[in-house]
Amino acid sequence: MAPIDHDALEAIRDGVRSLCKPYGGDYWRAIDASQGFPEQFVDELTRAGWLAAMIPEAYGGSGLGLAEASVILEEVNRCGGNAGFVHGQMYNMATLLKHGSEAQKAAILPRLASGELRLQSMGVTEPSTGTDTTKIKTTAVKRGDRYVVNGQKVWISRVQHSDLMILLARTTPLAEVQRKADGMSIFLVDLHQAIGQGMRVQPIDNMVGHETNELFFDDLELPVDTLIGEEGKGFRYILDGLNAERTLIAAECIGDGRWFIDKASRYAGERVVFDRPIGQNQGVQFPIAEAHIEVEAADLMRWQACQAFDAGLPAGASANMAKYLAAKASWEAANVCLQTHGGFGFATEYDIERKFRETRLYQVAPISTNLILSYVAEHLLGLPRSF
Ligand SMILES: Cc1cc2nc3c(=O)[nH]c(=O)nc-3n(C[C@H](O)[C@H](O)[C@H](O)COP(=O)(O)OP(=O)(O)OC[C@H]3O[C@@H](n4cnc5c(N)ncnc54)[C@H](O)[C@@H]3O)c2cc1C
Repeated sequence: MAPIDHDALEAIRDGVRSLCKPYGGDYWRAIDASQGFPEQFVDELTRAGWLAAMIPEAYGGSGLGLAEASVILEEVNRCGGNAGFVHGQMYNMATLLKHGSEAQKAAILPRLASGELRLQSMGVTEPSTGTDTTKIKTTAVKRGDRYVVNGQKVWISRVQHSDLMILLARTTPLAEVQRKADGMSIFLVDLHQAIGQGMRVQPIDNMVGHETNELFFDDLELPVDTLIGEEGKGFRYILDGLNAERTLIAAECIGDGRWFIDKASRYAGERVVFDRPIGQNQGVQFPIAEAHIEVEAADLMRWQACQAFDAGLPAGASANMAKYLAAKASWEAANVCLQTHGGFGFATEYDIERKFRETRLYQVAPISTNLILSYVAEHLLGLPRSF
C-alpha cells in the first residue's frame, strides 16, 4: 500500500479551508434554523471541483483517491460546516464508477464533474425492514424494456437537491434465491422523470440539518438501461460503495472532533471562574485531552481504510472500524465541548448544540454502531452469526 502523502494533502486542506472561510457560523445556523439546504456553498464546492475529486480525469474529474476525498469532507466539518449535505455524491459516484456500464459512465460522470448533474441520493432503507436490508420489499419487475417499481423507502436524503438517485430494489423474490443477498438490483433513477410519475416524495422533519424523505413508488417505470451492472447483484455493489461511505463519514467525524476540541480548549483557556481559567482545573482539562487522544486514534484507522481502498484491497474491516471509532470519538468530543462551555454551550450562537446534534447522527446512520460491532464479531472474529 502506498504511504499517505500528508504534505500533498495539506494543499487540499488549505484550498478547502479558504473556500469554507466566508461560510461561517451565521451561514450554517441560518440553514439549520430553516431546515434549509446550503445551495450556495454546495454550488461553490462543486464549481471548485472538490466534489469531483474521485472522478477519473478521463471523465473530467481530478482522479484522486479516497484519502484526498476524505480530507475535503473532513475540512468542511472542521471549519464548522456540515459535509452531510454533499457527501452522497462522492460515494454514489464510486458505485457508478465501479459497476456502471461504459455508456452510463460516459453519459453521467462528465456532467457530475462539471456540476451540471448531482448524484447525491441513494435509496436503500425501508420503513418495515430497517437494517435487515435483504428483506426489502420494494420490487422492480421486468416488463419488456422497462422495470416497474413498487414499494416504499424512508430516510432518503437530498432527493430534492439531486438529479439522480441510486435505488436498491428486489428483482427476484427472497423465497426464490439461494442466498439472501442475491436477487436485488440497483438502478440509476432520473429524479426529474420519476417524481410525479410513479414516485412521490414526503420530507421528514428531523433533528439534524439533513434534507431527508420518505419515498413512495407506485408503478414507477424505469428503462432497462438504468440497471447498474448485473441484475441480482445490486446488494453486493452497494456494499462495495459502503466502504467509501464509511471512511468518508469517519473523516467528517474527525473534522467534527477537531472542531469541538479546538473550541473547548480555547474556551477553557479563556473562561475565568474562581479567579483562574477553568482549563487550569484537571477536571476540565483531562476530558478534553482524552477526547483529543480518541480523535487522533480514530484518524489512524481512517488512514488505514483509505490506504486499503485506494490500493484496491479489501477495506471492509478498516472502513467499519474507522467509522465506529471516529463516530464515537466525535460524539465524546461534542459532549466534552458542551460541558466545558457550561450554560453557554446551549446558546445557538456558539454552534456547539448544532454540531452536537449533527455529529450524533453518525452513530445511527449510515450504519448503526451495533451493526458494526456485529460485523466485527462475526466476520473478523468468527463468532456465531446472530442474524
Ligand atoms: C438523517 C438520516 C439520513 C439518512 N439518510 C439515508 C439515505 O440517504 N439513504 C438510506 O438508504 N438510508 C438513510 N438513512 C437510514 C439509516 O441508514 C438507518 O436509519 C440506519 O441504517 C438504521 O436503520 P433503522 O433506522 O431502520 O433502525 P433499525 O434497523 O430499526 O434499528 C434500530 C436500533 O436497533 C439496533 N438493532 C437492530 N437490529 C439489531 C441487531 N440484530 N443486533 C443489535 N442491534 C440491532 C440498531 O443498531 C439501531 O440502534 C438515514 C437516516 C437518518 C436518520
